[in-house]
Formats: sequence, structure tokens, C-alpha cells
Amino acid sequence: MLKKLPIRARLTALSILAITACCIGLTIILNFSANRMANVIEAIPLTPATEVTEETSMWVQPPSIGISAPSADSRIARTHFLYQSILYMVLIVAIGGGLTYYITGKALMPLRVLSHQMKNRTVHNLSEDLPVPEIHDEIADLTISFNQMSGKLEEAFAMQKRFSQSAAHELRTPLTVLKTKVDVFKMKKEHTSEEYNNLLSVITTHTNRLSELVKDLLDLTNMDDLNCDEQIELNALLQDVVEELIPLTKEKNISIIVNGTSKSIVGNKSLLHRAFYNLVENAIKYNTENGTVDISIGDATDHAVVTITDTGIGIPKELEELIFEPFFRVDKSRSRQMGGAGLGLSTVKTIIEKHNGVISVSKNETTGSRFIIQL
Ligand code: ADP
Repeated sequence: MLKKLPIRARLTALSILAITACCIGLTIILNFSANRMANVIEAIPLTPATEVTEETSMWVQPPSIGISAPSADSRIARTHFLYQSILYMVLIVAIGGGLTYYITGKALMPLRVLSHQMKNRTVHNLSEDLPVPEIHDEIADLTISFNQMSGKLEEAFAMQKRFSQSAAHELRTPLTVLKTKVDVFKMKKEHTSEEYNNLLSVITTHTNRLSELVKDLLDLTNMDDLNCDEQIELNALLQDVVEELIPLTKEKNISIIVNGTSKSIVGNKSLLHRAFYNLVENAIKYNTENGTVDISIGDATDHAVVTITDTGIGIPKELEELIFEPFFRVDKSRSRQMGGAGLGLSTVKTIIEKHNGVISVSKNETTGSRFIIQL
């Protein structure tokens, strides 16, 4: 029941419990001691004073102390004492409870102010930091954590906005082309078979593109239910990926080398296959004539490191972080010509992070890019 109370009431209730327990103990001890003392006092007989001479002093016996039943007056006095001590106990508990309620109210005031400020946060003012108290206490810690969380939320909102805008844009482009083609087609009454074929080819191309896009989007968001407990031989996986991509290397005469130690990891085979496929495909797609793609598997103590280095066009330094965002492309028209919607690297990043891994990109020493994946 205590857990349902607000902190102030809970602290007050707990303090009242503690004060009551102490006061009851104290009252019991006091009454017990008072009773014993009264018993001892009553046991001493009161004898009238007599003159003590040298002769009699030898025969005067000291009064003997024995416990006898308390007199009526004594019983009344004892009951009075008991009632009074209980009354004071209740008074002390009440005053103690009131003081605790007041003090906890004062102590919790900064928390109430902070809570009020937090309630006023909306999507529109997430970027404004809450003032951090100068004294470094729990409230300051909480404020700093809240500011950090707001920063992350703001970034997530911004990313979501960019994602929706890009998704809408990507879906709109083929739809606009389709609509224009159909409108133009409808304007003429009679059509040659060539015009029919032309229209069908445009419709096929753009509907394929749309369904690819929708599939990529679904893949990007539907990875949560997949198992990640398969034993995977990295070398074999990368060899498979390379073999599948060999036809793509022919056009620009690109050579691919896989080297490094044989390393086994635990994860989802088809997801990792897709991630490495995307990376190696990009390394071929954005490569130059007679270029190379170097794939190496390194073995750190507690993880595997796969490095994919190409001699291609490279990625500008300032865009290295952005290329992992959905729909981001360095050169939009060029990537679109190559059939890319800019979802490949964000899918790769999601897969690697699902495996508790990290992916980063840097410049190759000569030309091109280097992707480092730690799993
Ligand atoms: P896309 O489907 O357009 O290839 P990705 O998400 O795979 O989308 O890549 C995003 C962008 O990053 C690409 O459009 C391209 O500009 C850039 N990029 C990716 N990999 C490489 C690479 N190996 N070399 C140069 N640029 C690359």
C-alpha cells in the first residue's frame, strides 16, 4: 500500500512508523522503571523519629525493605503516570509526523520544479536544455540525464522526419512518371502497338522499382523477430557473397581478394549475408575501371573484424556519418541510375547493430573507401 503513495506521504508515513516504534519503546521502559522505583519507595516503612542515645543506638535495627501490595493512592498515581506518558507519546508522534511532512516537502521542492519543467517539454522545444543546478546533487544528475535524453529524442524525431520526407519523395517519383505517361497516353484515341509496348515497359520498370522500394523498407523495419544464434563461418560466408557478385565485376574488370584467418561467429546467416552482399556490391558499383576490392578478416580477442577496402570514387569526409541514413546518396542521380534507393547502407547498419556490432567508414590510403565491421 505504501508504494502507491506519493514520495512525500511515503516518507512521512515511514517516519511516523519509526517515531511511533521509538516512543512506544521509550514509554514501556519509562513505566517499567517508574513502577519499580515506586515499589522500592513504598517498601520503606515510615517510623516516627526517636532520639538516638549512645545506649539505644546499638539496638536500633535498620528498616527492612520488602515488597508489599501498592496502596490505593499509589495505584492511582501509577495509572496517571501511564496515561500521561501515552498522551505525550501521541503528541510527540504527531509533532514529529507534521515536522517530517514539512521538511520532506521542502526537500522535494526542487524535484517538483524539475517535474513541472519536464511537463512543459514538447517536440518543439526539445532542443532547449533545462538549467542544471549549481550544486552537484541527485537533482543535477537527473537534469543532466533528462537533457541528454531530450537531445537523443530530438535527433530521433529529426531522423524520422527526414526518413518520411525521403520515403515520400522516393515513392512519388515513379508514381509521377507513371501518371504522366498514362495521362499522355489517354490524350490520343488511337495507338500503335509500339506505343502500347512502350507504355507497358515504363509501367513494368516503375512498378518493379516501387515494389523493390517497399520490400527494402519492410526489410529495414522487420528484423526484430529473426533469430541470431546460428554458428557462421565468416570466411565461407564472404566467399559465397563474392561468388554471387562475380558477374558484376566483369563490366569494369574489377578483382576481388578475400584473405585473413578463419573466424566463426554467432548470428543470423541470411541477415549477415545480405549485409556483406550490400557492402561488396557497393564496393564494386562505386569502383573505377580495373579497380580492386580487398576483403580481410581479422581476429581480435573477443570479436571479428571484417575490412572491405575498394579503390573506387570514395566518400567525402563530411558525409561519412550521413551515408548510413535511409535514402542518403552522395550523388543522387548517379546512384539512382545504378538502381540504388539509398537504403542499402542503413539496412547494413541495422543488421550489424542487431548483432551488437559496429560499422564505420573511412578513406582508403590511396583512393576509395574502407568499411570496417566489428562483430
Ligand atoms: P545505394 O542503394 O544508393 O547504393 P547505399 O545505402 O548502399 O545506397 O549507399 C548510400 C550512398 O553511399 C550511395 O548512394 C553512394 O553514394 C555511397 N556509397 C556507398 N558505398 C560506397 C562505396 N564503396 N564507395 C563510394 N560511395 C559509396
